[in-house]
Amino acid sequence: MLPPLPPLPPPPPPPLRAAELLDHLLDLTFPDRCRGCGGLRAHPKGLLGCPACEAPLPLLPLWRGAPDGLEGAWACGPHDGLLGALVRRGKMRADIWAVERVAAHMARLARGRLPPVDVVTWVPSPLWRQLRRSVEPTALMAIAVAKALGRPHRMLLDRSGGHKLAGKGIGDRRRLLRSQYRARGFPQARVLLIDDVMTTGATLSACADELLAAGAERVWALTATHQGKAPDALDVLIAGLPAGGAPDRAVWAR
Ligand SMILES: [Zn+2]
Repeated sequence: MLPPLPPLPPPPPPPLRAAELLDHLLDLTFPDRCRGCGGLRAHPKGLLGCPACEAPLPLLPLWRGAPDGLEGAWACGPHDGLLGALVRRGKMRADIWAVERVAAHMARLARGRLPPVDVVTWVPSPLWRQLRRSVEPTALMAIAVAKALGRPHRMLLDRSGGHKLAGKGIGDRRRLLRSQYRARGFPQARVLLIDDVMTTGATLSACADELLAAGAERVWALTATHQGKAPDALDVLIAGLPAGGAPDRAVWAR
């Protein structure tokens, strides 16, 4: 007699398509709606968010420390909230409008507030993702930031296939991550690396390793959002100050 069959696994969650379609229809019907909370009215001159969703956004780049290989890294706001919602829309739904809003916010914060660099580049996404969505959000962000800094943007990194990183130690993760990026050419320059989200900084470190090995002098990074705890207030005071300029008083109030 055959053993009883194991119970069937629970059905997979329904695909997100219905929710995405509804979201898309709402965007078309209410083009002013807040992309953070879904409210029907965004700030008229803001980032596609309502005043409540825009309020927590910083007015200066937030110092996020110096991951290995980098001189320093900054983020333009927390990933939880409006900025993160816009980044995810750009990444998952190729929403160019959302990416442009994020890029404009990054450019505004970067202008005059970062160390001098010679060239701006970006962390490339996997090729399958680039092909599928036909827009590279990090490249659009790098172009906007480069323009704000008056510096050229260059594609200095290629991306190869992905590797499974789960369960790997820090050393292995860094080695595997680095093997996903290849420097193009010899960037003998100070480089600003742009990415969408900074979590541990491991991706930024892997890219910086590759750029430095190819001849880059020094590497800094600016990301749209950061995950994890807010930076120490003193660090922000020290590292977020505009070089030689008066601090923006509105920042201290936050
Ligand atoms: Zn909102």
